[in-house]
Amino acid sequence: MPKVYNWHLGRQMDYRFENGKAKRQFAAVFNINRCIACQTCTMACKSTWTFSPGQELMWWNNVETKPYGGYPQHWDVKILALQEKANPGGQVWNTGQKDPKSAPYGTFEGKTIFETADGVNQMVTGYIPDEEEWKAPNIYEDTATRAPKEGTSLPEHSGWFFYLQRICNHCTYPACLAACPRNAIYKREEDGIVLIDESRCRGYRKCVEACPYKKSMYRPSTRTSEKCIGCFPRVEGTDPLTEGLPMETRCMAACVGKIRLQGLVQVGDDGQWLEDRQNPLYYLVHVAKVALPLYPQFGTQPNVYYIPPRWVPRDYLHQMFGPGVEDAIAAYTNPSRETLAVLQLFRASQQIVFSYKWEQGPKVGEVTVGGQKRELFNDAVIGFDRDGREIVRVTVQEPLIERPGQLNSI
Ligand code: SF4
Ligand code: SF4
Ligand code: SF4
Repeated sequence: MPKVYNWHLGRQMDYRFENGKAKRQFAAVFNINRCIACQTCTMACKSTWTFSPGQELMWWNNVETKPYGGYPQHWDVKILALQEKANPGGQVWNTGQKDPKSAPYGTFEGKTIFETADGVNQMVTGYIPDEEEWKAPNIYEDTATRAPKEGTSLPEHSGWFFYLQRICNHCTYPACLAACPRNAIYKREEDGIVLIDESRCRGYRKCVEACPYKKSMYRPSTRTSEKCIGCFPRVEGTDPLTEGLPMETRCMAACVGKIRLQGLVQVGDDGQWLEDRQNPLYYLVHVAKVALPLYPQFGTQPNVYYIPPRWVPRDYLHQMFGPGVEDAIAAYTNPSRETLAVLQLFRASQQIVFSYKWEQGPKVGEVTVGGQKRELFNDAVIGFDRDGREIVRVTVQEPLIERPGQLNSI
């Protein structure tokens, strides 16, 4: 089986195909700390793409309540258990040696879902959820681990839950693609978006079984599988709103909590991100190191990154996001001036921001965070489109706008 380089794991791994030729990659950062589970993203996707017969249980975007919730139910617990069974006690990280770009989280010494499969009968370790498990996009909504009798405080709450926002990760090494016996799934060169060719699909559900995130779904009315398409017409810039310029997807653009930032990053032949410091996604993942991949140990090199929730027990987060958790929470809790500025870009524009500039502003106050005093500056961040034109300018301090004394006719 060919070897490919997976920088999330800090090592090479087995994968059915050679590295793809994607030059740019669809990627996003989700800030879990800010999500209010309003499900506006979920409905934005549903009302655009999955409102037809046979798609009733299909939520390409869903927001679930952790630790008990899941769509399909218990998807991650089940995959983790399968992996543990295949490699008992061996699913561990070695954080002794890191490299900022090629092994930022150390080396995963366990086995990926490609490496625990036998490669003959099964290309990828996985399972097919039954219909019951698909019935609720946010089962156990707002259910905490326990109700604390007295108040609780950071760094770890004694009773806790959080919302996990999920779409297809448009993985660099998609499990769905590796498992498809019809070669009906492909990854686009221009943006790394992973699509199913419906005319080739015969509904064998190998992709449903293989995707560890369970983001490929079966549609009984057509007997084919379907999945998030990364709103590719918007990313291509064919939506009339932006006059030919790439635009963020429906679920991103609709986000009420301003937790999502999506864009395109540059990728090299080995699947690693090319240095592009002024790209906000590159900055958050590789420079500030505030955003982490979801279950990197599965091995698909997913392209949605998460700013972990500050109040959740670290061993739970470590299992979910890998060994970068402590650093990411520290970087978010006490952000540098530049990080604070870049975080203001979330939902500031519907167009994709390809690069940014940080401009220093005056000191406007002091705050104490975690017992540490810090100064607050009203810095600005400017976002630029694909052609280098300014599309947005925001400041750390929100401007105060007073309504005129006279109301309008409504
Ligand atoms: S729209 Fe944003 S804030 Fe609302 S549930 Fe979705 S991700 Fe969370
Ligand atoms: S998240 Fe699942 S469906 Fe999406 S590309 Fe990765 S393996 Fe395929
Ligand atoms: S990117 Fe588009 S297709 Fe995918 S979940 Fe979001 S809205 Fe749905």
